[in-house]
Amino acid sequence: MPRFRPALDDIPDYRPGEPPLRPDGGPAYKLSSNENPYPPLPGVLDAAIDAAARINRYPDMVSSALLDALSARFAVSVDCIAVSSGSLALLQHVLQATCDSGDEVVYAWRSFEAYPISVKLAGATAVEVPLITDGKHDLDAMAASVTERTKVIIVCSPNNPTGASMSTDDLASFLRKVPPAVIVVVDEAYREFVRDPESIDDPALYRLHPNVVVLRTFSKAYGLAGLRVGMAIGSNEVISAVRKCTTPFAVSHIAQEAAIASLAAEAALLERVEMLVAERVRVLSELRAAGWEVPDSQANFVWLPLGERAGAFAAAVKSEGISVREFAGEGVRVSIGERPANSLFLEVARRWAPRRR
Ligand code: PMP
Repeated sequence: MPRFRPALDDIPDYRPGEPPLRPDGGPAYKLSSNENPYPPLPGVLDAAIDAAARINRYPDMVSSALLDALSARFAVSVDCIAVSSGSLALLQHVLQATCDSGDEVVYAWRSFEAYPISVKLAGATAVEVPLITDGKHDLDAMAASVTERTKVIIVCSPNNPTGASMSTDDLASFLRKVPPAVIVVVDEAYREFVRDPESIDDPALYRLHPNVVVLRTFSKAYGLAGLRVGMAIGSNEVISAVRKCTTPFAVSHIAQEAAIASLAAEAALLERVEMLVAERVRVLSELRAAGWEVPDSQANFVWLPLGERAGAFAAAVKSEGISVREFAGEGVRVSIGERPANSLFLEVARRWAPRRR
């Protein structure tokens, strides 16, 4: 029998969202993985198809053209940006670069399900700090949980699955309490959907706080979930450590070219983001009008804190052809999709509105 690291015994399976439309009558609308419901723009698709003609060759290992495009987009030196196959890979690289066995990683809970898995995989110990009202991070408690063994703190804004975003002021006062040797990862996978003007909005936070690294992704607003491209923006030192951990050739040239084309087509993509934000506003207001108590969301999903009714509600929604993400005993996360999908979801949700029961 092969012998595996004991840390693996503790690692829960990562559960992906349910698959989309199936001929057997499965969910016709997939609102379970916070994806972008729109198909790729023609220019982005063409760039990917053109790049496919070169798949017999390895891609540019350092993604230099993509780094140049990102450097121009975010006004950050190329030495301060790393790309890899999704922002989750970059989080894992930060952990690999910093954590030895017994080191601690602090993050809020509930948050992105991949955090506990990644922390344990790195051999580190997870320190989970419960969320407070409206699904926000308890930044005071998180700062108070830092010990000599803390290597990394992960903050997620907007938080998956609750949708709460963090204000610039709250993050700044939190960072003042964190020792400079502790890396703070700010996971902003959903940043482009944020409309609260007080929310954090500076991808180059490392300039003021060299221990901060910001993660962003092409998977959500830019609609490239299937190609896996994420980025980390941080100090030269942090980024060079992260780069040492990346798998060589992790970003295919199809993904590199599609990401570059997406940046070139950003205005058109952000118009779509605007439509999704308008749909989020509609979904939240119609849910509240129907009697639901839902926290504000700044992301492309909403959180229904259903407690024990989560499973039954998720099953009811699924029976109407919509897959959503159930967190047993806690709640249900519903991605904002195309308008008919949202309308159908709202029909079911109205029937389940808490005050009417
Ligand atoms: N961070 C958060 C908070 C997420 O919800 C997700 C995707 N579900 C990711 C990171 C991973 O994104 P990527 O596709 O870039 O790995």
